[in-house]
Parts: sequence; structure tokens; C-alpha cells
Amino acid sequence: MVKDIVIVGSGGSGWMTAGMLVTENKYKITVIEPEGIPPIGVGEGTWPTMKSFLMEMDLDIDDIGGTKKLGIDYIDWYVNHSSKHNHFYHPFFDKTFTKKLDMNDIFIEYINGGLLEKKLLFEKLFPESYGETFITDSYGYHFDVDKFIPALKEKCINLGCKVINAKVEDCKFNLDGSIKSVVLDDEKEIVGDYFVDCTGFKRVLISKMKNTFIDLSDEFLCNSAITTHIDLKNEKEYYWTKCSALSSGWVWNIPLKDKIGIGYVYSDKFISDTDAKKELNEHLDIEGNYQLLQWKPGFLKEPFVKNCVAIGLSAGFIEPLEATNYQMQWIIIDRLKALLDGKIQNNNANTYVSRWFNGLAFFIISHYFFSKRNDSKFWEYFGSLKIPHDIKNIINNLFRTEDIVSFASIKNFTKKTLILPTGLSWFYLLISYGINFKKELYNK
Ligand SMILES: Cc1cc2nc3c(=O)[nH]c(=O)nc-3n(C[C@H](O)[C@H](O)[C@H](O)COP(=O)(O)OP(=O)(O)OC[C@H]3O[C@@H](n4cnc5c(N)ncnc54)[C@H](O)[C@@H]3O)c2cc1C
Repeated sequence: MVKDIVIVGSGGSGWMTAGMLVTENKYKITVIEPEGIPPIGVGEGTWPTMKSFLMEMDLDIDDIGGTKKLGIDYIDWYVNHSSKHNHFYHPFFDKTFTKKLDMNDIFIEYINGGLLEKKLLFEKLFPESYGETFITDSYGYHFDVDKFIPALKEKCINLGCKVINAKVEDCKFNLDGSIKSVVLDDEKEIVGDYFVDCTGFKRVLISKMKNTFIDLSDEFLCNSAITTHIDLKNEKEYYWTKCSALSSGWVWNIPLKDKIGIGYVYSDKFISDTDAKKELNEHLDIEGNYQLLQWKPGFLKEPFVKNCVAIGLSAGFIEPLEATNYQMQWIIIDRLKALLDGKIQNNNANTYVSRWFNGLAFFIISHYFFSKRNDSKFWEYFGSLKIPHDIKNIINNLFRTEDIVSFASIKNFTKKTLILPTGLSWFYLLISYGINFKKELYNK
């Protein structure tokens, strides 16, 4: 029986894991936190699960330097010239809210062949007052990691988590291949029953276990980002992550409590870091100091191996579009809790997590496939590709139903198609790109 859990790494995933486990009141939790390897923090956007997590930890929006997030505002993704279709939203919605707005009629009209006027849909969804009244409970947060981590750490320590300031250099194994202990830079050995790898792209523990990395770099071209923060402008408060398409990727704009997080996500095969900086400077009309982050898009086939699990960036990272990583952290920790309770085994947990990563990957890549931009080699590349069969299957499944509202619930959609995110999210995506699947999709 697992009693003693060792979490290696103290970024957002390490402390989120510590928080979700320590509140169970069942385990002795130790977090290993090195000096001099700072965690990633760019101004992150999250899904509504973040709201539940903060409530569980008794933290609020001010503790994390955050703002509410109703969804994502896509700008200039449809075409590269001026068009009324060049502005659309991917909102968070629950079933009740969708019912309130009679969305079913809208969707049925769309399925029956109408190429929906996006304006009609979004005017209905976003009356001017929407942001202030928050008629939905379905929102996430934008937050500042520099505030989130200290606030969460303090809660975890108060609830009994122990912190060791050291770097993990190695680990020792039991005869069955499970981890026995981790060896620190001062040569001390920390033993445990279960080990969590939250060391980001370094994958300090999980890389020592047998595993397969599902490499998505052939499909996901974006593998770099330059990031910065700028001062809050005197513009009206907004509750969206803004994502604007540029020549070789896209820029996020994330409103935090006292600053704005900015980053240009691009493919280094199509633009150099220097040219990306130039383009971002022009886009923002500033001379920015940027931090460069790079990754290999993909995920581990088996984040759960023996008595070890990878959580956060160590489990995988596709790219920042749709802000999926804190959501994935939450999903994996939730599966870890079920595993520790003896309700599931490693193989069930791995299948579930892969299904999430795959579903999110299809969704993210669809933004690139369905865009009609052709103003650079980057966008031309996506224009030249055929829509993968898996995406066609998802869409076929969606269009086969008459009752979109009930079909779009996570449970039904997952059961029928084994694909995430929800059917509603897929509808927003298709409607926003003006996809009339009967005519357009199969020509591609
Ligand atoms: C460009 C970019 C944009 C992103 N945007 C979003 C977003 O909008 N929404 C979202 O949900 N996610 C986003 N993410 C992902 C999100 O930032 C991460 O999921 C989150 O920060 C958690 O990271 P982590 O804790 O797994 O890794 P990290 O933040 O890298 O932390 C790893 C930790 O491991 C420690 N460590 C490393 N080596 C050792 C060692 N040998 N011994 C002990 N400790 C060690 C380090 O000190 C560090 O604290 C983005 C990521 C990137 C790259």
C-alpha cells in the first residue's frame, strides 16, 4: 500500500500534484525542489477544472494574480485578408447554459446544410454585458505562475507537505524495476513507495524507465515560442485569451491581474528566432525582451510505469494552442488518485491519458487544417495537406446526431467517439471556420 510519495520538481505540475494529493489526507508527501532551475511561467490560461482546484485549495483569483477566462478569442485565423469571419470565439460552455440559449436549433439548422452566419451565433452568445454578469459557471483562469506557485506551496506546507531543497541526480531501482529511491546532489538518498516526475522537459525519472515517446513533430510544426510580459494597457477588461495568427504561427495575449502575458508560438522550420522577434515587435509595436522556449511536440505513451508517473510537461506537450497542459495535469493527477485507491491499474490510466492527448491533438491541429490562410510557406503547407481520416471520423460522428445538446456532453461524446474535447467545442471550431462538412471537408 502506498503511503510515502516523493514528487520530484516544483513547478506548476509538482505543486498541483502535491495539492491534489495532500488534501486526500492519506499520504506522506515530499516535494524535491532544486535551486537555480526555474519553472516555466508565461502567463498561463486554463480550463474550468482550475476553478475547482483553487476552491479545493482554498485559494482565490487574487492569490494567483489571475483573471477569469471565458474562452479563447481567435483573430485572423480564417483568412489572411480582412474578413468579417476573421474573429471568432471558442467559449467554455456547460450543457445547461447551452440549453438556455436554444443552441440546439442553431446546430440543427447548421447540420441541415446552412453555412451558419457566425455573427448570428456569437451575437447570441456574447451580449455586451456577458463578461460582467458571468451567466455561466463554466470559466477558467489566466494566472501568474510567480504568484500561483508560492501561494500553492504555502497551502501544501500548511497541510503537511515536506520540502527538500536539492537536485535529483539519479535513482535506484528495486529488483522488479520499480524505483526504490532518488539520489540527491548532496548524495542523500530519499526512499519512497511512489515517485512522481514533475521535472518538465528534463524527465529526470521517467526517462530512466522503459517508455515510448509519441513524436508529433511531423504534424505539429510549432515547436518554439518567444515570450514576454507587457504593462496593462488602458483598454477595457477582457475575459478571453486572445490568439492572433501571424506568418508562421500565432501570438497569445493573456490578461493577468497586473500585466499581460505575450508569446509568439512558431515553427523554427519556417521562421528564424530573429525574424520571429522582428515580427512580434512589429505586431506589438514595442521592442521586447524575449525568453525563448523550445520543445518537441508529443507525449509519453505510458506516463504511468511501475511505481512512477510523469505529470506536466514531462508527460507531454503538444503546443500552447487551446491551453491544454494544466487540464492534462489535472487529468493525470485524477487518474493517479484512482490508481492509488486501487480502482484502476497503470494500463487503464495510460489508455485514458493517451485518449485525452490524442483528442486534444486532433482538435488543436484542426485550427491549422481548416484555416484558409495562404500568405506564407507555413500556412501553404497546411493548405496542401489532406484532412486526416481520424478527424473526418470525429466530424461524421458529430453530424450523425439530432440532439446536439445532449450529445455534446463530455460523457456521451466520450463514450460514443472515444474522443475529446466535447462535441460542442468541435461545433464551435467547424462553424467558426465556415466548414460545411458536406461540401467542403471532403474536397480537401
Ligand atoms: C510556450 C508555452 C506556453 C504554455 N502555455 C500554457 C497555457 O496557456 N496553459 C496551460 O495549461 N499550459 C501552458 N503551458 C504548459 C505549462 O506552462 C506547464 O504545463 C506548467 O508550467 C507546468 O510545468 P511543469 O511543472 O511540468 O514543468 P516546469 O515548469 O519546467 O518545472 C519543472 C520543475 O522541475 C524541477 N527540476 C528540473 N530538474 C530537476 C532535478 N534534476 N531535480 C529536481 N527538480 C528538478 C525544476 O526546478 C522545475 O521547478 C505552456 C508551456 C509553454 C512551453
